[in-house]
Amino acid sequence: MGNKKRVEHELDSKGVKKLTEDEIKIILRGADDLIMSGGRAMLAKILGGSKDKKLLDLELDYSPVYGSFKGETQKEILAKIDWVILNHYLDIEYDGRLPLLVFTDKGWKIERETYAVELLYKLIEASENLEYEFVETLKDRNRGLILLLLDKVVKTQNKDLIPILQAWQMIDYKKLKVRIQEVMDILEKEGSSLREGKNDVLSFEANKKWLSIPETFRKQIEKNVWCSSCCDAVQIVNYTVKEKKEGILLHGECRKCGNEVVRVVD
Ligand SMILES: [Zn+2]
Repeated sequence: MGNKKRVEHELDSKGVKKLTEDEIKIILRGADDLIMSGGRAMLAKILGGSKDKKLLDLELDYSPVYGSFKGETQKEILAKIDWVILNHYLDIEYDGRLPLLVFTDKGWKIERETYAVELLYKLIEASENLEYEFVETLKDRNRGLILLLLDKVVKTQNKDLIPILQAWQMIDYKKLKVRIQEVMDILEKEGSSLREGKNDVLSFEANKKWLSIPETFRKQIEKNVWCSSCCDAVQIVNYTVKEKKEGILLHGECRKCGNEVVRVVD
């Protein structure tokens, strides 16, 4: 007990001379889900798309790079991983007796960029699908990663991201709230909305559907829209009606505070 021998490991890049930038990014992205929790062998299985039971139990098949090196042998993949370690993008640290993967500063710089782009796409998708609960997954992430993500949000100049940013601002910590506010202010001032105009073709159909709902019900719906700023059910005013795959979308303002509010009617 306690003094079990360390699991030894030997790094061997087996003559691999150089990996492409993409290969390095893929290996680092795969390693991200294993930092201080898994080692080289598991990483090789992820990249090879293995059906290993432990891998599936840990849901590592959800990694965006799962199976990226399919067709290559585990030995070949391991050699590439070892090349990445020997070139100081990743390192090995022991937790008790197990050799586990960690990022070096050099590797993390690359991975942070990859992951921030991935999160940006997820944020845009969640915003379009009104899945604002996605922001919960952004809490307690590496601060550098999140700040990089917010820089990328600014670069989109996409005003439509403001509501999901508001939802995010409500749940995150004080320091980040300030930065999120800055980002929203920039988007408000300099951004443009892709929603405006683009959906005009659809809004005729959506309006027809909306008006087919009895007026008393429509009034009830209008008075029962969540405002993230008031933290209350409020009345929606100055709204437009659009079609969404989930139903009809009302997009307008809170009667009390003027904040942007949305409501899906299915
Ligand atoms: Zn309000």
